[in-house]
Amino acid sequence: MPIHDQTTKRGLDMLRDPRFNKGTAFTREEREKYGLMGLLPDMVSDVDMQIQRIEGHIKSLPRDIDRYVYFSDLQERNESLFYRILMGNPEAYMPVVYTPTVGLACQTFGRIYRRPKGLFISIRHRGRIADVLRNWPEEDVRWICVTDGERILGLGDLGAQGMGIPVGKLALYTACAGVPPHMTLPVVLDVGTNNEELLKDPFYIGVRERRLTGDDYASFIEEFVTAVEEVFPQCSVQWEDFANPNAGPILDRYRDRIPSFNDDIQGTAAVGVAGILAALRMKNERLADQTFLFFGAGSAGTGIADLLCRVMEKDGIPLEDARKKCWLVDSKGLVVSSRTELADTKLPFTHDHEEVGTLAEAAQVTRATVLIGTSTIPKSFTFEVIEQMAANSDRPIIFPFSNPTSKSECSAEEAYTWTNGKAIFASGSPFASVDIDGVTYYPGQGNNVYIFPGLCLAVYVTKASTIPDRAFAVAARALAAMVSDEQFAKGLIYPPMANIRAAALVVANAVTEFFFNEGLARVERPADIAAFVDAAVWQPEY
Ligand code: NAD
Repeated sequence: MPIHDQTTKRGLDMLRDPRFNKGTAFTREEREKYGLMGLLPDMVSDVDMQIQRIEGHIKSLPRDIDRYVYFSDLQERNESLFYRILMGNPEAYMPVVYTPTVGLACQTFGRIYRRPKGLFISIRHRGRIADVLRNWPEEDVRWICVTDGERILGLGDLGAQGMGIPVGKLALYTACAGVPPHMTLPVVLDVGTNNEELLKDPFYIGVRERRLTGDDYASFIEEFVTAVEEVFPQCSVQWEDFANPNAGPILDRYRDRIPSFNDDIQGTAAVGVAGILAALRMKNERLADQTFLFFGAGSAGTGIADLLCRVMEKDGIPLEDARKKCWLVDSKGLVVSSRTELADTKLPFTHDHEEVGTLAEAAQVTRATVLIGTSTIPKSFTFEVIEQMAANSDRPIIFPFSNPTSKSECSAEEAYTWTNGKAIFASGSPFASVDIDGVTYYPGQGNNVYIFPGLCLAVYVTKASTIPDRAFAVAARALAAMVSDEQFAKGLIYPPMANIRAAALVVANAVTEFFFNEGLARVERPADIAAFVDAAVWQPEY
């Protein structure tokens, strides 16, 4: 059924609802039928012409942030057209709608704010969070992406302005995997901010108080989860960009109560592990023969290390031995047993070793073959560090994963130049290809978007009761296995962004099968899983 036949709205109400509006593409018959005569100019466009018009406008804009605002307006005006354009050229437009542009969008959110695309649930709503959720116009929400804005990308505490992140992330659920957009809900838990600049900024949009902490914070999260269970009983939750001390405990507390995951920990882990598995496929080496050095031991770093160890364990390496292959460096240096007050998440990876002074020294003493940066410290993979990695391995695996680009531990050009083109490179934010002495190198992007949309589609179609870490290992293996020899020949360890829809479906099919095999699906197993998943994919059609 055409989308505009799924509503009783007519006239301007229909044109103002992005879910049903198709602008100048309403035919003359539809204009009669829905009371639109005179509310549109005479011209009737087809969707291709609309796309041409929008793309022409996007090109004419001077900065990515202007393009972000334009896309944001389009999403509020005509949802189908927004997704048609985003899906039509994900390589070009995803960096505008999500990272890296979304980082700047959140920093300036108070100045570019237009209309709510989600719910701002603030500490003023304590005791009434269920009522706030009921204000959302959709009744059947299946995915909430929620942040408290405390650790937005690598940019720190942006308070309520972090809303840009769940909005962008959920747009990618739809654009990449076809999760129906009206079944997703972006949420900011506005518990204040400790960002002094924002507290003083007259345009700051959130509660102008310092952050809620301790038991008050915990009971606010508890009330939120209880309210979601009550108002949207079929809903799953993605915890997004919570600060390190809260991220793990929140996930652990709620993951068995409500299907939920933390993309910074588990999604990052899966995309990191997928990159490592694909890089090893490319150079025909085994996990068992590698040593991993993590620079930055927060949610992302320890998340990758944990999942990597689980994958090694499944491959027959005892867990203790797998952990001994992983070395962490945090802001205080190498994580060694003589250090006190180490976070629980770092403890499994402590080594009996003396402390070392620099990252280059850590690379030297560990003989690391794989270096992963999740430190948010730009340019920390110096010439000395990368030179040492090249001394440790013929083809060192170098992943500066910190976002946005301004936080990257090194650039693609640096990694390739300093290793004479030997590095297998992937970064968190995209880098352009690099030409050195007539050879072109294609940097990979270890973007979580390869994992979370497909995984969330699998949860949506199976109504999975819980999302175990093993689901992320399945997603990682599926993604690594789909990289072709032709892509390897170019140095790519992830499928090109242009193929993101296909990659998301590969992940969705593998994880859907996993949920059925593990008895976690709450729907009947279909005869043909791929056809079942495919049939659930939302299409941006008028
Ligand atoms: P986090 O705050 O949990 O962790 C950051 C870690 O970096 C902390 O352990 C901190 O101690 C460490 N650090 C700070 N200064 C350091 C220093 N001087 N030397 C060594 N370590 C230092 O944040 P996170 O969630 O782990 O994210 C970290 C970065 O990774 C962010 O930039 C984020 O955007 C990026 N990230 C990338 C991807 C991806 O590319 N797929 C996914 C998730 C996160």
